[in-house]
Amino acid sequence: MNSQNTQPGRSTLERAAGFFLFPLLDFLYPPHCLLCYNSAPSKTPLLCNDCLHILPHTAVPLIPAQQCSSGIKYSFQYSFAPFEYDEHLQKLIHNFKYRNMHSLSKPLGRMVGEILNKNSHCKNIDVLVPVPLHPTRYRERGYNQSLCLSREIGRHTDLPIISPLKRIRYTKKQATYNREQRLTNLKNAFALKRSFASVIEYKHVGLVDDVLTTGSTMNECAKILKKAGVKSITAISLVRA
Ligand SMILES: [Zn+2]
Repeated sequence: MNSQNTQPGRSTLERAAGFFLFPLLDFLYPPHCLLCYNSAPSKTPLLCNDCLHILPHTAVPLIPAQQCSSGIKYSFQYSFAPFEYDEHLQKLIHNFKYRNMHSLSKPLGRMVGEILNKNSHCKNIDVLVPVPLHPTRYRERGYNQSLCLSREIGRHTDLPIISPLKRIRYTKKQATYNREQRLTNLKNAFALKRSFASVIEYKHVGLVDDVLTTGSTMNECAKILKKAGVKSITAISLVRA
């Protein structure tokens, strides 16, 4: 069982708030959609169905890694990203990552799962692997957004999730670096967990992160998976920035 649950490391008080206080607040102040400000269904709080369905989709969600064009020799073969990066996605992802709105993984992950299911290449994926957070960042944030996303994608694709990777070096947020720095910032930041020994039995891994920018985060993780025996890796993200 992975230690990076969506609600881990929380105090009894915070858990009690989750059971009693938040439902009460939902009742008093019904959840509303972040984009249109109308009320949102409780199953997919923060994003209503209408807004979910008008988010812009990429014309071609799956592209060969080399078309990500960062001058990197990628260790993953394909990038899959179903959404275009516009101001709505930017707002949703910012809230998803930095403002404790991990429940946005539900509508977004569902949509990713549904589009993945229709893609013949992605039908060959055996397992999902979330990009890990450093324990310090995890304590700050309280959840790993890539794991939240993986869970929802897994729910809608029936794919299992494994977490063989760990982050061994604390780095500043990629967003704080320029393009060149991003490419080197993550060198040796990840490793394979000892419990996964040296070989992963799955052939085709779907590596999951929220955004693919230069692809350097996904690439550092893919290098390790490849070394551990994974033959094929598809980098799955909400958007390609
Ligand atoms: Zn809406």
